[in-house]
Amino acid sequence: MCPRCAHGTIEHIFSSPVPGVWEVLGCGRCLYMWRTSEPARRTRREAYPEEFMMTPEDIDAAPEVPAVPPLVTAAR
Ligand SMILES: [Zn+2]
Repeated sequence: MCPRCAHGTIEHIFSSPVPGVWEVLGCGRCLYMWRTSEPARRTRREAYPEEFMMTPEDIDAAPEVPAVPPLVTAAR
């Protein structure tokens, strides 16, 4: 279950170079990602800080993620 939005479908994103040490998991609904070796407050719904939890309504109302601006290439 996603710690942030409680979505039940979690995607496997990446595995540690040394097998079995940690996994990176991600939520397809709110896009939260976490590594399984992080503390419970980042990885477990019941320990996740309540002020950062999201509902489907919060996600629908979230503003667009700002685009990354172009690199500054002028010499300093
Ligand atoms: Zn989520």
